[in-house]
Amino acid sequence: MKKEALLYNKLKGAGVQCILCSHRCKIPDQKLGICGVRQNSGGVLYSLVYGEIIASNVDPIEKKPLYHFLPGTQSFSIAAPGCNFRCVFCQNWQISQMKAGREVSFEDHFCPATDTVNAAVAQKCASISYTYSEPTVFFEYCLDVSKLAREKGLKNVWVTNGFMTPEALEVILPYMDAANIDLKFFRERSYRNICGGSLKPVQETIAFLRRHNVWVEVTTLVVPKKNDSAAELRQIASFLAGVDPDMPWHVSRFFPNYQYDKEQPTSEGVLQSASEIGRKCGLRYVYVDNVFGWGSSTACPKCKELLIRREGFFIRENRIENGACSFCKTKIPGVFAPQPQE
Ligand code: SF4
Repeated sequence: MKKEALLYNKLKGAGVQCILCSHRCKIPDQKLGICGVRQNSGGVLYSLVYGEIIASNVDPIEKKPLYHFLPGTQSFSIAAPGCNFRCVFCQNWQISQMKAGREVSFEDHFCPATDTVNAAVAQKCASISYTYSEPTVFFEYCLDVSKLAREKGLKNVWVTNGFMTPEALEVILPYMDAANIDLKFFRERSYRNICGGSLKPVQETIAFLRRHNVWVEVTTLVVPKKNDSAAELRQIASFLAGVDPDMPWHVSRFFPNYQYDKEQPTSEGVLQSASEIGRKCGLRYVYVDNVFGWGSSTACPKCKELLIRREGFFIRENRIENGACSFCKTKIPGVFAPQPQE
């Protein structure tokens, strides 16, 4: 559904400037922004994808991935088409790279915000996740759903590239409970050439949300020859440790996809090294995702006991009680549901 956008300024003539993400597109009349899903029509900026829910699933929260936020709960996960990045290795390019008037009609999938929230409640989800594509570019719908979700006692989770503006963050902040943010590179050139974005706004988003007590975990998809050098991984980990050493870092295995389909998957050795680099840089919780049989469990940083044993996205054992290690009582950072009393 077409709906007037939030967060834009009118320019001279019939131009507008969108201030939702850090591209800050100046859009002439009848043209689209870089994301391809926001259009200037006669000096009014419209979202073309309001409520156009092209994917919805009930996922384990571990799939986002969030490992320290209500572990073991289900999250009602939704996406509308579009993205403000153009990552050549995008794992969800079929929906993220849809553009208005090309691959899809955006009028086919409308789902009112109340229906999304009611479906999440009916399926006993603890949260709604805005995910798969880039939630920033369906911001207005995320905001409406988030408000209703809160009224029903549900949490709101963003899975995002972190490229929104401070203005957008201020609007969504009161309703955002947790986020998984991609930190893809530590090179401006790589962000620009490989994704069509930039590094600094992403760093600022991570720091802003953490400072404002949103629970944040960060993912780096480790892509061969793009960001897998020890030097770059060390820079990423050092930055994150400087923001908050308790912030979990997920180093995720790349599999060939989209325009980067001739490469090999990331080797497990490189992922193991990345995880060691993260710990040496001071991060207390480093996870390796998309591998089989290792890398995803949580240990107490003090007594080293295994606290959460995961297999894939599922929890096989949880020894965190009231947010603390059940062995030595060290507080474990995150948001943990109270354990049922025996
Ligand atoms: S969301 Fe970003 S890419 Fe899309 S129109 Fe606005 S500023 Fe441009």
